[in-house]
This record gives sequence, C-alpha cells and structure tokens, in this order.
Amino acid sequence: MTDYSDFRSDTVTRPTKKMRECMAKAVVGDDVLGDDPTAQELEKLSAEIMGKEAALFIPSGIMGNAIAVKIWTQELDEVIVEERSHIYNMESTQMTFISRVQPRPLPSDRGAMDPHVVEENIRKPNVHIPRTSLICLENSHNNWSGSVVGIENVRSIKEIADRHNLKLHMDGARIFNASHAAGIPVKEFAEMADSLMFCLSKGLSAPIGSMLVGPKDFIDFGRRIRKVLGGGMRQVGIIAAAGIVALTDMTERIKEDNARAKRLAAAIAKFPGIVLNPDEIDTNIIIFDLDHPQYGIPDFLEKLNVQRILALPTRGGIRFVTHKDVDDTDVDKVIAAFQSILGS
Ligand SMILES: *Cc1c(COP(=O)(O)O)cnc(C)c1O
Repeated sequence: MTDYSDFRSDTVTRPTKKMRECMAKAVVGDDVLGDDPTAQELEKLSAEIMGKEAALFIPSGIMGNAIAVKIWTQELDEVIVEERSHIYNMESTQMTFISRVQPRPLPSDRGAMDPHVVEENIRKPNVHIPRTSLICLENSHNNWSGSVVGIENVRSIKEIADRHNLKLHMDGARIFNASHAAGIPVKEFAEMADSLMFCLSKGLSAPIGSMLVGPKDFIDFGRRIRKVLGGGMRQVGIIAAAGIVALTDMTERIKEDNARAKRLAAAIAKFPGIVLNPDEIDTNIIIFDLDHPQYGIPDFLEKLNVQRILALPTRGGIRFVTHKDVDDTDVDKVIAAFQSILGS
C-alpha cells in the first residue's frame, strides 16, 4: 500500500521511528499486577496534560467510552447523546449491551447541542420514565466533518449537567485537533468534563491505545471494569512507550493536519459536482457529497483508487482524513486527480 495516498482515516498512521525505538527499549512489568512502570508513566503524563487526577490506558477508544458510561450510570437510566455521535452510531450499541441504559439522541448544530434542548430532555424518573444520569459530548465531532464544539457550548451544557446532578463525559477521540482549531488548551475542554477519553492511535500516530481520564475513584473503578472487559494487559509498557512519544512529540504536529485539510477542502470544493462548504472544515476530517450526472460515490472512489488514492464512503458522502502519513504532495495528488476526473 506504500504507493497509495491513504486518506481513509487518521487511524492508518504508522508509528514513528522514535516510537519503535522506545517500544524496543521500554522497561516493563505486569500491568495487571500494577507494576509496569512505562504504563504508569503514560497514565501520569495523560492525567497531567488533561489536568485530571488520574488516567487509565485502554486498548481502544470504545472501551474508554464504555467504561465511562458504565460508571456514570445505573441500569434503567438514560444518556443524552448527540444524534450523529460515534458513541450512538458507531459503537455497536455498547451503551445498551454493556450498561443496559438507553441513549436519548438529540439534534445539534454541527455537533453543538442547544443547551435549552438538552435541559428540556433531562428526565426525572417515575415508574414509567427513565432517569437521565449522563450527557455525552464529542469533540472534535467525527460525523460532522470534524467540527469543533466550542468551549462556550460545552460550558453551558456542563452548567446544566451540574444543576441537575448529571455527569458529563467527553468523547475526545480527536481532542487535540479540536484544541488547535479552537486555540484553547485541551485542559480547558477537559475541565468541563467529569471524564474524557482521547485516542493515541489516530492523529497522534501511536499503533494502539486510548486514554480515559477523570477523578481517582472513577479511574480505580475503571481499572476493574477494564479487566472484566478483557482490557487488562501484561507487559503493556511496550505499547505504552509509543503512547508517551505520541504525547510528548506528536501533539503540536496535529496543527499541520488541520491546515492540510483546510487547503484540500478549499481546492476540491471548486470542482463541479462536489458538495462541500470549505468554511465548515475546522480540523482534519472532510466529508463532502457528490452531485454529478456521471458518477455515483462508488464510481468516483474507484476512479480515485486507480490513481492510487484511498478514501472512504460515509454517511453524507465521501470522507477524506489528513494525518501524519499524508503530506502536501499527497494533497496535490488528490487535487490533480479531482481535476482529471471532474475537469472544469
Ligand atoms: C475512533 C473514535 C472512537 C474510538 O474508536 P476505537 O476504534 O475504539 O479506538 C470514539 N469516538 C470517536 C469520535 C472516534 O472517532
């Protein structure tokens, strides 16, 4: 696949040379027994960066979201989610499967739910009605083309959550993309959330893993749930070592991905048949629709494939994601391919 320009997702990023070196040299223990120093270092560093008491290294982002839902809810509860969110659409019903709670999806303006609508949808339980116990936000918002949910919106929703004694969990799989785009430190977003999950294995380029951060008692309980879900790992310092490099060397680089996506969006939006408002591209995900007399989405993707360009079909069209392993040359290649297919 090396001659392909792979825009399918930022999950395709390969670990850096330094990551592989640190993995090879990592000091390890048995993390289930609690003595893997490298995993502990990664957890400490993550908690510091996010300004939280504690952190837990987890094999995937979904496990982090699932642990948070499990801890912040009880059976018979309801969870407010945004209708296009990953937690509601892309996690194979983990909320109902693992925690036996019901999601209550609400509409939004590109990922930002109206605080009044959130408040109206908080339910007080009676014999017929579930209790609302948790609100989940996503930032950046994957299925809204990587939009940033602004800090003011997050703050308003957090105030409502506090007033009604609800918890707020943030799915911050790409919180560093959101932070750079908003010009607001990740800590400020994290401060608005009782718990936050972020991925090491996307733009940050680590091969495996995500982090869950929050209060110490939450993380202690989370460690037990992680074990039950099959996420207890032994000499896990080998992969945690790459996570440490991700957090020390790779967070600033995310800016480049956001900038490249903006450049790509501005260029392709000009071609006939491309339905895209480039001003809506905040971070590294571009979702656009095709309205073309000759090509449907599968034909168009096939045409790109012939030119050694990979992208994915998604709800609402086609998705291009920028990341460490696509550079300006790859972006130029895509623009040239659009020119050759759609001409103008
Ligand atoms: C990728 C992603 C996750 C977690 O995915 P895993 O594949 O389980 O690591 C969660 N939320 C969002 C918004 C994501 O993009």
